[in-house]
Amino acid sequence: MLDLYQSIQYVKGVGPQRAIQLERLGIYTIWDLLYHFPREHQDRSSIRPAHSFAQGDVATVKGMVIAAQESKPRRGLTITKLALQEGAGTFYAVWFNQPYIKKQYPPGKKLLLTGKIDRKYGIPQIQVTDHEVLGEDEGLHSGRIVPIYPLTEQLNQRFFRSLIKTTLDQVGSLAEEFLPDSLLDKYNLPCLPEALREIHFPESQESCQRARRRFILEELFLFELGLSLQKGRIHKKTKTHSYQDDVLTERLSNSLPFTLTEAQKRVWQEIAADLKSPYPMNRLLQGDVGAGKTIIAALALCKAAGAGLQGALMAPTELLAEQHARSIQELLEPLGVKVALLTGSNRRGRKEILASVANGKIQVVIGTHALISEGVNYQNLGLVVVDEQHRFGVRQRAALQDKGSVPDVLVMTATPIPRTLALTLYGDLDVSVIDQLPPGRQKIKTHHLSLAQAGKAVGLIKQQILEGRQAYVVCPLVEESEKIDTQAAVDLYERLKKALVGCSVGLLHGRLKAAEKETTMNDFRQGTLDLLVSTTVIEVGVDVANATAMVIWDAQRFGLAQLHQLRGRVGRSSQQSYCLLVGDPTTHEAKERIAAMCRTQDGFVLAEEDLKLRGPGEFFGTRQSGLPEFKIANLVRDGKEIEQAKKEAEALLSANPNLKSPMHKQLFAQFARRFPDFVKYSDVS
Ligand code: ADP
Ligand code: MG
Repeated sequence: MLDLYQSIQYVKGVGPQRAIQLERLGIYTIWDLLYHFPREHQDRSSIRPAHSFAQGDVATVKGMVIAAQESKPRRGLTITKLALQEGAGTFYAVWFNQPYIKKQYPPGKKLLLTGKIDRKYGIPQIQVTDHEVLGEDEGLHSGRIVPIYPLTEQLNQRFFRSLIKTTLDQVGSLAEEFLPDSLLDKYNLPCLPEALREIHFPESQESCQRARRRFILEELFLFELGLSLQKGRIHKKTKTHSYQDDVLTERLSNSLPFTLTEAQKRVWQEIAADLKSPYPMNRLLQGDVGAGKTIIAALALCKAAGAGLQGALMAPTELLAEQHARSIQELLEPLGVKVALLTGSNRRGRKEILASVANGKIQVVIGTHALISEGVNYQNLGLVVVDEQHRFGVRQRAALQDKGSVPDVLVMTATPIPRTLALTLYGDLDVSVIDQLPPGRQKIKTHHLSLAQAGKAVGLIKQQILEGRQAYVVCPLVEESEKIDTQAAVDLYERLKKALVGCSVGLLHGRLKAAEKETTMNDFRQGTLDLLVSTTVIEVGVDVANATAMVIWDAQRFGLAQLHQLRGRVGRSSQQSYCLLVGDPTTHEAKERIAAMCRTQDGFVLAEEDLKLRGPGEFFGTRQSGLPEFKIANLVRDGKEIEQAKKEAEALLSANPNLKSPMHKQLFAQFARRFPDFVKYSDVS
């Protein structure tokens, strides 16, 4: 008997080649296959005569083949046209580049066809998107409510649909229910085998909806179980370290180059209270770009040092880690606190740094994910800070946490999380918000320029440089082709250098060595460079207050969150700053993104816009938020189901804290399979 967690290769019709194609869709096991849900359904259950449809209708028709014709109007194009008879009428069916059709369906074959109707030539013609042979594979691709799957190029709907059908027939009934019966009853949901059948090949629209609702609730329920388990894990423990009122933090507060804003004071009080508490802090510090989160991190790190503990600050890029190390060193070293930088490429004195971290001589360590690599051991890590936390996953946050015994954790982000989502995303965190910018900041003037108007951008850069300011020009980096994009940055750099005679222009991209990047960034920071042409390596965190112009080349290629982050590199002083979005957007979405940027500077509003435009899967994709990728649930659309799932998960856990009872064996197994990270970093494993 087939086990549902066996490789997909055990399914009839799947050889090694098909298996590779399916793996591209994330389908490795039979279970994965059954859980690859249709993206939509088309109702092809009503079959009418071809001539009863109008031009452009999508129709399902049937008929018997009476003649065939093949033509090759140009290279690479084969048109197959079958004439079919249907009662007293006839119609044509057309396929492109499917030469096997003619042989496969000789006169006499009866076909069921779905496609678009063309009435331009008198006799109705159907441009076939799906077909099946009547009496053979009837009721699979037509003549019913038909599933349409999200697929890759090499896999077509017909193949996939048949595969699902075979698999369902063979093993669908083996899928064992794992949700509590009470949950299914309460929400009137179908059990697993029924739900699987109905989500793929529904009897009716209603049963399809019911099946969908089951899988949405199932997914959210498992996810909420994970969140609750994690929260329980954190809040149960008590700290082994403590903080006293210390002179160091007092001295730092008094020596700051500016006074904290009211919002900064408030969040610092919240954090200081967490540090004092016997339970570990687990707090998200949210504040729009430029709101001044770094100084709060510095205060917390100082407090750790003042209590004889170690503190670590992790940033997503080397540039940012270096910048933080520099500015925090400036603040803390005069107080006698030892601060060190640790990144992957920074090999200088690495051994000594590691030794001093291990024996406690270094009190504050700042770095990239190198901080969580294996050879790094801390003497007594009391505080962990993660900057731009949306760039890291749950796993990395937990890994840094595990370097200490029960450290306090502060994660910071500029990603404005819409209120509707905050609870779900960070159910395990307390939240502090800096909702105020430092005084004297002006609105960043933001405009869109077409490529033909790009000269204006050069004019603005020139003018800003003449006034003693600095500028950035950013060009896009598409990960698939770093090489091509680097070349684009180099070309743009050469062009701008020519256009801006007398100005000093620097170039920054991912292919430069870490030391080269560091030098260029330093030159820019110190004002030796007037203009920095860069790829998105400067996207997050970079802080050069004298920079007042941000020109984003091919702005249509960036997402809204990215555009907002990039714009946040300017407007960091009381000077008027500018952001110019250069490019010729063609899609509706790209136009909307650029328009939204020109309309508002509020990260919150932009996040809501982005959710509307792209949905949470994109904005809060795995890479962006550390969230798992949801298969069927949608965090914006399914607000009601989130509430239900949360309520049910909490109720279940309060009765069965560790899901250890035999009754929940299946549920736990399923949970562990779906969200392995949660299990790894909670106490239930
Ligand atoms: P972000 O929240 O984006 O990380 P930063 O911490 O980089 O912002 O701060 C942005 C800039 O504002 C820095 O140059 C910082 O020195 C400055 N800054 C922070 N707080 C204040 C304040 N209260 N008054 C004036 N300037 C401030
Ligand atoms: Mg920052």
